[in-house]
Amino acid sequence: MRKSFIVIGAGLGGLATALRLAHRGHQVTVLEKTDQVGGRNREHRLNDCHFDGGPSLMMMLDPFRKLYRDVGERMEDHLQISLCDPSYRVFFADKSRIDGTPNVALMLEQIERLCGPAEAAKYPQFLGELAKLYHVAIPHFVRNNFPNPWSYASPAQLQRVLSTRMLGNLSKKVARTFKDERLQMLFSFQTMYLGLSPYDSPWVYGTLTYMEYGEGIWYPQGGLPAISQSVARLAEERGATIRLNAPVQRVDGKSVVLESGETLSGDIIISNSDLPYTERALENKTPKSFKYSCSAYVMYIDYQGTLPEMLHHNVFFGKDFRGNLNSLFHELKTPEDPAFYACISKRSQADRAPSGHENLFILVPCPNLDLPWDAETERITQNAVFDRLSSEVGFERSRIRGLESRTPLDWRNELNLERGAAFGISAEFIQSAFFRPDNRSKYNKSLYHVGASTRPGNGLPMVLISAELIEERLIREGVIADTYVLTPSTSFHPLKEKAP
Ligand SMILES: Cc1cc2nc3c(=O)[nH]c(=O)nc-3n(C[C@H](O)[C@H](O)[C@H](O)COP(=O)(O)OP(=O)(O)OC[C@H]3O[C@@H](n4cnc5c(N)ncnc54)[C@H](O)[C@@H]3O)c2cc1C
Repeated sequence: MRKSFIVIGAGLGGLATALRLAHRGHQVTVLEKTDQVGGRNREHRLNDCHFDGGPSLMMMLDPFRKLYRDVGERMEDHLQISLCDPSYRVFFADKSRIDGTPNVALMLEQIERLCGPAEAAKYPQFLGELAKLYHVAIPHFVRNNFPNPWSYASPAQLQRVLSTRMLGNLSKKVARTFKDERLQMLFSFQTMYLGLSPYDSPWVYGTLTYMEYGEGIWYPQGGLPAISQSVARLAEERGATIRLNAPVQRVDGKSVVLESGETLSGDIIISNSDLPYTERALENKTPKSFKYSCSAYVMYIDYQGTLPEMLHHNVFFGKDFRGNLNSLFHELKTPEDPAFYACISKRSQADRAPSGHENLFILVPCPNLDLPWDAETERITQNAVFDRLSSEVGFERSRIRGLESRTPLDWRNELNLERGAAFGISAEFIQSAFFRPDNRSKYNKSLYHVGASTRPGNGLPMVLISAELIEERLIREGVIADTYVLTPSTSFHPLKEKAP
């Protein structure tokens, strides 16, 4: 039976769900609040510079490949990807630097030069432990809908937890391996991608470190938003309708009411908007008191001149990393000497900025709206970043030809991210895996959730897996059959075109 689906939100999670369902022949309408697809993964333009609006690191290729493969396509026919090697340059406060790379020989050389042979000698075993953790955690704790507590707490699962010690503390584990504080930062800061401090994270998030050092960081031509655009195009080719500038005001049973007053009905509604927002604003319920991730202050800068010491991806650590994270996560203060990330995607694609210009993107982790954001906070943060860039890579403020920013207020007001928490609800243990909010609404049997604040979590690969989990659940619960519905409007034959 052909079913009709309404997807609220055209973030990557919503688009991937729409593509999967449309590929099966179901009728799908995507309603997007803004004027672009992609959500957090959208394009930002300033003067003649192009920027990745939010995410800029493409890691863990498997869920990307799987989405294309599951709909009978090859990723390489739609995305022209290349490895960023080195992955990134790290600037430490003592002026030393290291280029992170999945090339083990180069990492050994650099660690030896920076910290001596004893530290370098520990690297291969550390990478091996990360690999083991990754290959246990991803199939069993990430690609898992946890249909019952047994699927989380069976003897086999407990054995996996114990054998990898995945619930131990990440930063303590790294500190037990490496004595040098710079290496400790280098191999643990990746939890910041989830808006989480490594000092508060379980070792299982070492999977992120493995993604970088075991598999590497990739770049698709056209920038990361090219991924969302390609998935949207394929969904439309399979008959899905994507409506932009169509904000939904509320969900009522099997219907959604748009802000325009229009009502649409379907068999199933799937919300890709942030889960706590969906519960509060669209379902009119009081969400459980979630813990939220930090937010991000992002600057998009048209810089006239060159910054040759910077690579495509760059990480700047302040003098006191731990103090920085304490301010951010515990004292709820704007850090004075923040660690930040800087990106110049022009390094991998020359036409992202005009000749003689850099498209400089800066991301500074900052508190979510539990701490009010104001112009003074913005000024302090900007100054801290510009001072550091000036002393480290010769950045000059007078060369800024355009600057636009996105603050916690923008994440909340534009994309409806509750409390401006740019990475959704926090990924701490009590809100991850089995404990992450279920992808079916507590209040409405016809409403499902997909995206960063439901299972498995935040990040582009995770929201693609979230779409896999929704499809699997709809089949398991008998909402759709595990087959393809052929319709006159289907412009291709899904069975014939399905890849082996
Ligand atoms: C600054 C930043 C940097 C990041 N860097 C990386 C990175 O390098 N690599 C990585 O893998 N991940 C990164 N992430 C995380 C990644 O961007 C997200 O996990 C992912 O994009 C979330 O996708 P989603 O589909 O869950 O939701 P979203 O992208 O948030 O999409 C939800 C959509 O729903 C729409 N919507 C909301 N309310 C309504 C409504 N009422 N009606 C209609 N539409 C509505 C929104 O407009 C939006 O388009 C980053 C995130 C941020 C913010």
